[in-house]
Amino acid sequence: MTNEEIAELFKWYANLSELHDGNPFKIKSYAAAAFKIDKLSTPLEGKSVAELEAMEGIGKSIAQKIFEINQSGSFTELVELINDTPQGVIDLFKVKGIGPKKIAYIWKQLGIESMGELLYACNENRLAQAKGFGLKTQQAVKESIEFIFSNANKFHYAKLEKPALQLLNELQQQPFVSRISFTGELRRKNETLDHISLLIAANQTQLLAYLQNSMEVSVHENHLSFRYNEGYPVSVILTDEAHFDETLFISTAAPPHLKQLEQAGVNFKAGNEVAIYASAGFAFIEPEMREGLGELGKAKNNKLPQLITYQQLKGVLHNHTTYSDGANTLAEMASFCKEQGFEYLGICDHSKSAQYAGGLKEADIIKQHAEIDALNKELAPFKIYKGIESDILGDGALDYSNDVLASFDFVVASVHSNLKMSEEKAMSRLLKAIENPYTDILGHPSGRLLLMREGYPLDYHTLIDACAANGVAIELNANPYRLDLDWRYLDYALNKQVLISINPDAHETAGFFDMHFGINVARKGGLYKEMCLNAKDKNAFETWLQQRRKQKFG
Ligand SMILES: [Zn+2]
Ligand SMILES: [Zn+2]
Repeated sequence: MTNEEIAELFKWYANLSELHDGNPFKIKSYAAAAFKIDKLSTPLEGKSVAELEAMEGIGKSIAQKIFEINQSGSFTELVELINDTPQGVIDLFKVKGIGPKKIAYIWKQLGIESMGELLYACNENRLAQAKGFGLKTQQAVKESIEFIFSNANKFHYAKLEKPALQLLNELQQQPFVSRISFTGELRRKNETLDHISLLIAANQTQLLAYLQNSMEVSVHENHLSFRYNEGYPVSVILTDEAHFDETLFISTAAPPHLKQLEQAGVNFKAGNEVAIYASAGFAFIEPEMREGLGELGKAKNNKLPQLITYQQLKGVLHNHTTYSDGANTLAEMASFCKEQGFEYLGICDHSKSAQYAGGLKEADIIKQHAEIDALNKELAPFKIYKGIESDILGDGALDYSNDVLASFDFVVASVHSNLKMSEEKAMSRLLKAIENPYTDILGHPSGRLLLMREGYPLDYHTLIDACAANGVAIELNANPYRLDLDWRYLDYALNKQVLISINPDAHETAGFFDMHFGINVARKGGLYKEMCLNAKDKNAFETWLQQRRKQKFG
């Protein structure tokens, strides 16, 4: 069990215990233990009770529970509480805006035992009338449940990619499979997916028998569906070799893309994908772009860009270290980045307002800059740039005095607090930050977490126009939960000559690889090398920084 998983169990215990009106002191101590364990850097797995007890802040009873968790995956008191709670009530903890106390009231006083029932109660205005709730809470609860329902059974791309590759490799090796490919949303690399989509030309009897060996398979007219590995849904379209190209083409395209092609009179039987596009005078379109959002017009006029690739990235901007909430030290992040073949690294730990994330005080900055200077001597020609992820405060100001801001090589400005805002408020906050002469990159513009939290509302065109006017680059945060800026706005940004920075926001060395997910969606949006800030080589990146300083400060 990782520390994070152990902490999660203690948090669950505190929540459920509160739901069942447990001892407040005990609840507090478990919640505190969860917080503490989550932040620990040494793994607790494999430690004896005595070793655990010797650790600071871990008492006797918590130590025993940790030991039990490492042995059995949970602990008795938690299991008992879960058994005493209907699953539908446990699900209510996913709803935003209500905690254990309110859930207890909903369950015990209103007799509601599932999300569906709660939504119904909101629609009947019953929650607003309940003691201690009110209209505002009811509205928040309603929106949260609707959001959960509309995203149910969806997965982050990153979650399905690995099992999808594993299944593809497994089936590819079978003698009865003659051709196989990803298709649908998976092949288009959409940021969230309903299932793993495969197209297979095979001996169908043998394929079915093989799959049924280990899984329950539903057989439909032209496809099979089953759950693979840890229950990931898979849909397999069946075809034969003669129809493979045509079926691959049709099943890959998003419906609007396909419809536009039909209207253009494309011949789907023309041969491979290049030939199919060419049959109606279109240049080949990469699978990622086949969404029906203007790519066909470009393909007709030969205006399609050469889409960016991971290999074209030269540096990695926006990363965290142990100075704030990262798991690896500055030196570790730098050596790893250099080993990966990158020319430069931008360190952007959190700023001082982000106390929850160990944001840097002025003295920490001085210390970090000295460490960067020393490392730069050691690692040259590789270079670490002194950046910061400065919080955009409630009024749109950045988080340090101008003197401090001027000590950085570059500044990423991001919103981390008070995310619940009207569009008007969000825009005034972001526009002020963009106009700040110290801002170089606007970080994760909408604050969204895919499938978990909608971003605050924004007027994207005005936002991008402001970045263009101030020469500010926009981050495409490559964390697979964010992928923010949404790729659908890239085309507008590129038209306005706004540079896009594919930033992993890495909190550990492995986090650099998230740039793969950033590349996926960047390609969907039509990003090409020349417009990607971190595809600039070290010299070009440095020139960009210098020109910005000159423009802003003379
Ligand atoms: Zn951030
Ligand atoms: Zn960050």
